[in-house]
Amino acid sequence: MTEEDIARFATDLRGPLIQPGEAEYDAARKLYNAMIDRRPRLIARCVDAADVMSAVRFGRASGLPIAVRGGGHNGAGFGGVDDGLVIDLSLMRGVRVDPTNRTVRVGGGCTTGEVDHATHAFSQAVPFGIISTTGVAGLTLNGGHGYLSRQYGLACDNLIEADVVLADGSFIVANETENADLLWGLRGGGGNFGVVTSFLFRTHPANMLHGGPIIFDLSDATAVMRWYREFSRSAPAEFYIFLGLQSVPPGDPFPREHWGKKMCVLLVAHTGNTAETAIADARAALPKPLIDWVGPISYLALQGMFDALNPPGMQWYWKGDFVDTLPDAAIAAHLEHAAKLPSTFSLMHLYPIDGAVHGKANDATAWSTRDATWSMVIAGIDPDPAKAAELKAWTVGYWSAVHPFDRAGAYTNFMMGDEGEVRVKASYGENYPRLTALKRKYDPGNLFRVNQNILPAG
Ligand SMILES: Cc1cc2nc3c(=O)[nH]c(=O)nc-3n(C[C@H](O)[C@H](O)[C@H](O)COP(=O)(O)OP(=O)(O)OC[C@H]3O[C@@H](n4cnc5c(N)ncnc54)[C@H](O)[C@@H]3O)c2cc1C
Repeated sequence: MTEEDIARFATDLRGPLIQPGEAEYDAARKLYNAMIDRRPRLIARCVDAADVMSAVRFGRASGLPIAVRGGGHNGAGFGGVDDGLVIDLSLMRGVRVDPTNRTVRVGGGCTTGEVDHATHAFSQAVPFGIISTTGVAGLTLNGGHGYLSRQYGLACDNLIEADVVLADGSFIVANETENADLLWGLRGGGGNFGVVTSFLFRTHPANMLHGGPIIFDLSDATAVMRWYREFSRSAPAEFYIFLGLQSVPPGDPFPREHWGKKMCVLLVAHTGNTAETAIADARAALPKPLIDWVGPISYLALQGMFDALNPPGMQWYWKGDFVDTLPDAAIAAHLEHAAKLPSTFSLMHLYPIDGAVHGKANDATAWSTRDATWSMVIAGIDPDPAKAAELKAWTVGYWSAVHPFDRAGAYTNFMMGDEGEVRVKASYGENYPRLTALKRKYDPGNLFRVNQNILPAG
């Protein structure tokens, strides 16, 4: 790769090509997780599919390793790569809602908040995750769970079409009738098969609901977790609660007397007509909370409620698991480690992946875990880079204690880059051989390998 090659590539692009030493370089290479510091050789900020096609062809010809960046939120930092080419879609943020057909067309670099904003005007939503600054691409391609998942499934279940640039630089459309095998792989198989320049999602009714946090002192966590495991068995799909073990954030609007206290939190979202009664019944069965802020709230407000508590630029080390049940011994292990949180930002969350997520067969999409109850994440988080080793040690220690109660695999978005093929394989279960065959068909040379990598068969 000569300077001339790079200059020719730059003229092929309509978007900017950024190189080390340029004024925009440091901002453009920055990832959400500050624990990962990548120094790419080139960052191609694409503005359309033509740019992405040029970038893939250039990357392939140059032999540079390629990272694809949507929202840049990935915990493992797969939106960047040292000495390689970043194909950055963050300028491709168009959103078009079709209220008649109840669909939304989304650019490959959109954040979930941008889509939520557009669909909310039509009282519609796609079931995305709980932080609105997350990229649609990485979230959807790996699965995507959030407040509406018990009702409407994963984000990837609602993906009905994708425009994709393949490893040879060609462009194809994948939907139920055209290249249906590729659509199957994009529904959970990550960025392994190509670069998605545009997504088409089905939308669902969502506007006002009853939601917000109920916060308990950690000393009540055993009772809350026992209640929660029973709740999960019987609650209707419209009643969603995720559970967290973490600290009360030390700042407004939290009451000063609770700042920094270790807590067990229930994050509630009830979209049905019986919300008030159902939540009152839950309150009656639970211990007395420190804070109860559940009330009427718009879906849009709930989606952005925790953005300020999760700014970019912190150190993150996380590990996950798929979880079926919460026996008392598992609860005890959780509480032993939650009592030793290494910072006020660190956390354990259990996100429901039952309800509508169970409505499909395990082999209906690349995401194969359609019979577990929760997707768990344990995350050591802090702004101070000096704490990186401590965050990792706490996360690994906590995970090692609870993992014997869990499944072998995890949500691929809740893994760092150090988990290895065994865990990726376990996460896809019986779908893994089909995924490796699909990888051989669409990316036989493993051009797209800066991800939770699926190796081409053979
Ligand atoms: C604070 C926080 C909260 C979160 N909450 C949730 C949650 O509630 N629910 C949930 O499901 N997940 C959640 N996640 C996980 C999140 O979904 C992942 O981190 C996801 O990978 C982020 O996607 P991104 O596009 O921002 O990431 P990026 O870093 O840009 O990319 C992530 C991966 O996707 C690939 N990729 C990106 N764009 C494309 C594209 N256009 N085409 C092909 N491949 C592409 C990349 O190569 C990379 O492997 C959360 C993450 C954070 C940091």
